[in-house]
Amino acid sequence: MKNIVILGGGTAGTIMANKLRQALEKDEWNIVLIDKEKTHYYQPGLLFIPFDIYKKQDVIKPKMNFFPSGVDVIFSEIERIEPDMNQVVLVDDKHIKYDILIIASGTSIRPEQTPGLMDNLWYNKIFDFYSLEGALALRDFLRKWEGGTMLINIVDLPYKCPVAPLEFAFLADEYFTKKGIRDKVKIKYVTPLSGAFTKPRANKMLSGLLEEKNIEIIPDYYIERVDNEHSSIVSYDNRELNFDLLAIVPLNMGSDMIERSGIGDDLNYVPTNKSTLQSEKFENIFVIGDAANLPTSKAGSVAHFASDILFENILSFIENRPLKAHFDGHANCYIETGFGKGSLIDFNYDTEPLPGTFPLPGIGPFGLLKNTKMNHYGKIMFRWMYWHLLLPGKELPIEPLMSMAGKCEKC
Ligand SMILES: Cc1cc2nc3c(=O)[nH]c(=O)nc-3n(C[C@H](O)[C@H](O)[C@H](O)COP(=O)(O)OP(=O)(O)OC[C@H]3O[C@@H](n4cnc5c(N)ncnc54)[C@H](O)[C@@H]3O)c2cc1C
Repeated sequence: MKNIVILGGGTAGTIMANKLRQALEKDEWNIVLIDKEKTHYYQPGLLFIPFDIYKKQDVIKPKMNFFPSGVDVIFSEIERIEPDMNQVVLVDDKHIKYDILIIASGTSIRPEQTPGLMDNLWYNKIFDFYSLEGALALRDFLRKWEGGTMLINIVDLPYKCPVAPLEFAFLADEYFTKKGIRDKVKIKYVTPLSGAFTKPRANKMLSGLLEEKNIEIIPDYYIERVDNEHSSIVSYDNRELNFDLLAIVPLNMGSDMIERSGIGDDLNYVPTNKSTLQSEKFENIFVIGDAANLPTSKAGSVAHFASDILFENILSFIENRPLKAHFDGHANCYIETGFGKGSLIDFNYDTEPLPGTFPLPGIGPFGLLKNTKMNHYGKIMFRWMYWHLLLPGKELPIEPLMSMAGKCEKC
């Protein structure tokens, strides 16, 4: 009997467990999945909690609901990987041998990495919305807040779902407008990027939307510390910005277990072949989702598209065939823009988000880089698809590799 061990049972690990269990003979391949947490968080839903649109129950479900039968699930903190011994060590010193290892341990926020961030203003005037705890605390704060200056700040790149802080800004604009206090709130979008988004056309469209909604962009801003006494943030080039409310995307880092294993980069991401998804260093280790150092967005959609490629390549690896499936970095993100509308971007390693229609040329029904009601419905529908189709590893009507159909390069 051989062993495939999957580290992390979030979006990517769950999809891989479902796909592989269906395909591999149970008397030949044992599949072990290890995760420290029993609850699955629908992370895109966290964004809606501060604005009282979703409740806690809308974004959490037991992880066990999504793991297939025939997978050995271990709920434990992973201490480290010992690649030279082909084994994983758990915190209780249990050793688990593998023939193939899939790392799907994601990324998480590290507020402790920014000086002053977690001092007395944390969850008092400063909140994150990337954790359930932060989103709920911010919701309680906003229910009572009467206005002032709100900064939305991104600490550094890369961070998961690069459009999430923009969506947060758009939803905040809608929330304060409906509450009748928009004229009492200054919203400033403070980002290390030189605009709203990295790629030129998406940047133009999204910067335009921020401007339309009277949200000021403060670009090229790298926060150095929080000054708790003056309620301000200070950048490395000494620009000080005061706030009454700071909604922050703290530094994102891969799992500490990667650091303890000595196989990651400075931010604990695993060097991974961007095409085959095989570890750069160990041929029986594969990496999927936010844990990998791929030059594309850290997003659930990327994990989902990559899962088809990784599935093919693992079957090839088992049969000693060359790894022929190639990932193109395909990402597809709905962007909630407020007041019942949304936008959509679809891109890969080489092609920036382009205008057009998706998935069908001329028909859509979704509009790329457009602000439409249909795109908003796409975002809302996605939660159902996530729980019922995506996590169980079922086929979705979207190809894993990006298609140029419907995209307009010259528009
Ligand atoms: C606010 C927000 C909005 C988002 N919106 C979108 C969106 O609209 N569209 C989109 O595509 N993506 C979105 N994302 C991103 C998306 O949720 C993630 O990219 C996706 O979940 C990544 O999947 P993953 O499997 O790589 O990591 P995760 O789903 O985070 O899973 C990692 C798992 O590894 C486990 N783990 C880590 N270290 C250890 C250890 N040492 N021991 C044991 N277990 C460990 C964790 O417990 C976790 O279960 C959003 C994220 C946030 C925060």
